[in-house]
Amino acid sequence: MTFAAVNRSEIAFRLKEKALLVCASPRLAAEWKRCLVAASTANVVATPPVESWQAWLAKLAREQTAIPVPLNQLQELQLWEQVIHADTKIAGSRASARGLARHAAEAYKLLCEYRIGAETLSGAGEEAEALQRWIRSMHNALAQKERILAADLPELLLPLIGSAAEHGEILLDGFDRFTPIQQSLLQALQKNGVSLVSVARGSSSPSLTLTACVDAISEYRHAARKIAAILQADPHTRIGVVTSRQVKDTETLRRILDETLLSSTQLSSAIRTAMQATAMAGAPLATAPLIRQLLNMLQLAGRNGAPHKELSPLLFSPGIRGYAEERTARAVLDAKLRENNRHYLNFRSLLAMDEMTELPQFAGVLQSLLDWEPNARSAGEWVKSVHSLLQSAGFLQVEAAGRSSGEIRQLNLFRESLSSLIAVDAVREQMAWSSFLSLLVSACNETPLSLTAHYPQISVLPLEQSTGHRFDVLFALGLDDEALPMPARPTPLLPLALQQRHNLPASTAALAFAESGFLWQQLLQEAPSIHVSFAEMREERELRPSPFLAGIKTTECNETVPAAEMPKRERFDDAPAVPLSAEEQVQGGSAIVRNQSLCPFRAFATHRLNLAPLGETVPGVTPAEKGSLLHQALQFIWEELRSQSALLALDEKAVEILIGKAVEHAWQHAHVTASKATQQFERRRMQRVLAEWLDIERERPPFSVERCEKAYRLELPESGTLRFPVRLKADRIDHDAEGRKILIDYKTGQKQSAGKWIGDRMPEPQLPLYTMAEELGENDAVCFARVRSGDMGYEGLSGEATGIQGVSIYKGNDEEAEEWTDLLACWKKRINALAAEFIDGRCEVMPQDARACDYCGLEAVCRIDEIGIDRDEENEA
Ligand code: SF4
Repeated sequence: MTFAAVNRSEIAFRLKEKALLVCASPRLAAEWKRCLVAASTANVVATPPVESWQAWLAKLAREQTAIPVPLNQLQELQLWEQVIHADTKIAGSRASARGLARHAAEAYKLLCEYRIGAETLSGAGEEAEALQRWIRSMHNALAQKERILAADLPELLLPLIGSAAEHGEILLDGFDRFTPIQQSLLQALQKNGVSLVSVARGSSSPSLTLTACVDAISEYRHAARKIAAILQADPHTRIGVVTSRQVKDTETLRRILDETLLSSTQLSSAIRTAMQATAMAGAPLATAPLIRQLLNMLQLAGRNGAPHKELSPLLFSPGIRGYAEERTARAVLDAKLRENNRHYLNFRSLLAMDEMTELPQFAGVLQSLLDWEPNARSAGEWVKSVHSLLQSAGFLQVEAAGRSSGEIRQLNLFRESLSSLIAVDAVREQMAWSSFLSLLVSACNETPLSLTAHYPQISVLPLEQSTGHRFDVLFALGLDDEALPMPARPTPLLPLALQQRHNLPASTAALAFAESGFLWQQLLQEAPSIHVSFAEMREERELRPSPFLAGIKTTECNETVPAAEMPKRERFDDAPAVPLSAEEQVQGGSAIVRNQSLCPFRAFATHRLNLAPLGETVPGVTPAEKGSLLHQALQFIWEELRSQSALLALDEKAVEILIGKAVEHAWQHAHVTASKATQQFERRRMQRVLAEWLDIERERPPFSVERCEKAYRLELPESGTLRFPVRLKADRIDHDAEGRKILIDYKTGQKQSAGKWIGDRMPEPQLPLYTMAEELGENDAVCFARVRSGDMGYEGLSGEATGIQGVSIYKGNDEEAEEWTDLLACWKKRINALAAEFIDGRCEVMPQDARACDYCGLEAVCRIDEIGIDRDEENEA
């Protein structure tokens, strides 16, 4: 269907002459309204007569009393869901019915738009027949309610549209092609004397550049830098950033745009101050922190308890009433729960804890969650109940001190989303709490959270939604050969042959190609200057530019951190040494030396500022508790046996009894709390591990056990005037038949290696410290005993062959130590040097390498992620 065309420049005049502009999409209609208002010179401007196709038909239908009121989208989806769930031929959960409801609604809309009767679905396969049944049930339900679906509306309007239309001329813009029902409606209008005109596509050919970037990050940086330069030249330039479906990580794009624009030296400070964030089609409301907290609280309503990781965010949620007064006590309670490994929390026992007396407001919220009645009720009643729960919990008090305007906007959007669910009452009488909650979560996920456009000159929007927009400069990102042309995308539930017979959108590669061509042509109209780019590598796939870009010269770009354009950096020492004073008490044993060696800041923060990361709760027994239990059991065994010969003298049964007693002893002395079932499981595991370990001990050359858990106290550095105490405990000291001392340290957790005892800054100086405390000599040995299921054995170093598998004679691997005795002396010197550093207060953030940060937990304080690890130093090390 083609019509006479009118130039864009004439639109305003035609509208004044009582024409109506009908656009293919609501976004395009909004853009037209914006442009027309902006172009007007009048002081007061009436809303321009511009409608989207859907909105225009809905408006016409509202004036026709013969046409029933259509369901809104939410009501429609609910009804589809009910119908599908009630279909006895389809076995599935409510959740799967919800997923199918969207596909069914979409398929039905296409059938209506292409005027395909539901009877054509007969015999077209299982899915098509199911859809046919659901359509029938939908119509029955709608007839009872005297309602229709929005997709039915154009067909009902068809006989009435000629007389209903009020405008003598209708201008059409943004239509790729007209569907059969659109064609019929337009023909009916023409028959009634309405003049139809299409808005001419511009003929201007924009200036185009094409940049191939090494990866997506490089592409975003490239665009951001160019945008900063354009804004510097003219801060009022309207810039569009169009993203293809290849740009999935829009959050990273937003971050890079904001970071670059806000920190760019190319922008004047006035612009930077005005620009808070890039205006971008928003993330879902459900992702806003305040709304996440609120939904998280609702997930706990009506439950008796929850895992710690679900309750803990509630304790730190500023949205909950009483946060300002109780936040310290709430943090203390959380720390205690972590410390005691309360992995699952029963709300009643939590309320009975002594700490709760300090938290009356939080206790009140917890009690209301416990009292929550999850019995089925109508959506309207749920809306009221949720509203009053959130009100009493403090979330909805928008006037609460400290609420930012952004948070107030989020809360208002949330209220709207919540209230919109009342509409479900029209199609569903009652629903369970879980169904209502999942509906509420979906509503929050579907509500876009638009950021405040402090700097509205930049808009970021998906390629498919950009049609009709006009910018001064446009950036099109991700235009590779997988993005454009788009692949065929047949509609689920409709038979493919039927889709292809009726040319349904994107049902074949040819139709998808045509659709892509239309998008590309539209894109070329959006700005006089267009910068297209793509990433050559994405998710390990090599990509080429879209074939639509054939003939455009490609520029290569590898945009790394734009160091040259960063503000000039000044270097200053922000970690001057903070020497230990004589009055300061420090505690920490071998960990002080270890931490000083790994990273001076880690030692300073841990042992002088007493900072400790919050632990995580784990189900059952923690790894540390497992280690402690095994240590206790091994101590018991060797204090009983005292020698390998005593072990060899025991028969299988006697060993089993000994292990049983050791396990019992460990549980009595290790202060580990666990459920009976967990204890039983852990006891059995310990018995297996210990039996396996004793087999290893049997294989060693003969030995006797001199001491278990031998304690030492060192004063470090040995020669300093100011020293700190280090208390140590060696797990075991054996003597072999030749009188050599074998110092043993049990390791039940992560893998350890004797390789970590080498170098100036040893990553694991614990055993070298023991050798110093025990004053090991030239014939002695030191080793780990790895007591881990599936990874048993010794690993260590010695001056002479000990015959123990895994304990090797030292071979001079350390540059400074040729012999074993040299190494023992070196360890002493290095430990004293590290201790002296600690006394001197050396505290810079300088981890030895990336592994030094593993299990540290101080990242939030040292901010290593922002500083980065000095890779050169790491490589040199
Ligand atoms: S996280 Fe790394 S850099 Fe930070 S204190 Fe720990 S070891 Fe040092």
